[in-house]
Amino acid sequence: MDLTIAHLYPRHMNLYGDRGNVLALRYRALGRGIAVRVIDVDLDDPVDWDAVDLVFMGGGEDSHQARIYEDFLRRAEPLMEILDKGVPMLAICGAYQLLGHHYQTADGQRLQGLGYLDVTTEAGSTRAIGDVVCETPLFDYPKTLVGFENHGGRTFLGPSSQALGTVRLGKGNNGEDGTEGAWKNHTIGTYLHGSLLPKNPHLTDLLLEWALDCKYDGGVVLEPMESTREMAAHEVIVARSKIKHV
Ligand code: GLN
Repeated sequence: MDLTIAHLYPRHMNLYGDRGNVLALRYRALGRGIAVRVIDVDLDDPVDWDAVDLVFMGGGEDSHQARIYEDFLRRAEPLMEILDKGVPMLAICGAYQLLGHHYQTADGQRLQGLGYLDVTTEAGSTRAIGDVVCETPLFDYPKTLVGFENHGGRTFLGPSSQALGTVRLGKGNNGEDGTEGAWKNHTIGTYLHGSLLPKNPHLTDLLLEWALDCKYDGGVVLEPMESTREMAAHEVIVARSKIKHV
């Protein structure tokens, strides 16, 4: 089996080591003998979307989001078509904001988003910075996802949105309603940098499984793979929250 990952805007959207998510996907795929090809997609680069099995886009400063969002909007149709077919996408922070309806930046600029996720993001008066622990319905065990947030935007879920999780430590979407991230089909938007996947191997494996299931028409079960060090890093952050058992 093999997988092709499209890494969107790696030069502009790559805060707090977000590229580590692509490395983690590659590492855990190769550990199961699955070959991985990563395509870096920069401004104006042509993409053969039919050949893409998994999409990743990292976070960015307001100025970088402003630089790429028009290019991103031009790709809306083919991108949303593959997401609707079940191709997974992981979108971190600034990318998550641009998958929603719009992002109002700190200096009042309104950046239109794809509207794939039913969320809107307004500028906050302070930044949300620090470790995050949330509990997600995606897994039976461990139920937690951990990461690091640093964002000015406050994201609010629309009626057709499903939260990725409930915040146990940190601010998450907006610091008010206890939600973190959003999730639709196999697309996950989240504020969690960290980078996220190296400390959450269960999420890495889920994304790989979704991608392989979509590509090979279901029934793909990943072999178990050791994740002692990854889970040790995970538990260090869980220990900062009030949750007692991972
Ligand atoms: N610029 C956005 C904000 O501050 C996103 C930041 C990020 O990706 N960390 O809300």
